[in-house]
Amino acid sequence: MTPEQLVNAAREARTRAHAPYSAFRVGAALLDEHGGVHLGANVENASYGLSCCAERVAVFRAVADGVTRFTQIAVISRGGVAPCGACRQVLNEFAPDLTLHLADETGPHRTLTLSTLLPEAFGPAQLTADVAEHASAANPRAARTD
Ligand SMILES: [Zn+2]
Repeated sequence: MTPEQLVNAAREARTRAHAPYSAFRVGAALLDEHGGVHLGANVENASYGLSCCAERVAVFRAVADGVTRFTQIAVISRGGVAPCGACRQVLNEFAPDLTLHLADETGPHRTLTLSTLLPEAFGPAQLTADVAEHASAANPRAARTD
């Protein structure tokens, strides 16, 4: 799948956004390692805090379908803005090396990486190290290698 095809898939997903309060419609198309595409659109709620961005909708749909490894995402919005901080963190959980294609409704896209948007990210590796450290502190014999 070319970046242009992924961008077009995100444009199609954007048409299904539920954004009656902000009118800021966003579409996302998340490409997995096997070439599958997982779509998302932002879903707003009258209780604003319950709203969810298109990027996270795409990730959560994919994870619910059993897919957790991604290579690229296309995000379409007015102005071609970058994902919010919450979405950057959620994307980092599954794809710290992700490539992003950002575009507006009709124009060309720009490409960047998640590590550019979320430098020194906190992720699963930090928790894994912490768990191992805790386990060895609680049971020093378990940490012995001899
Ligand atoms: Zn977001």
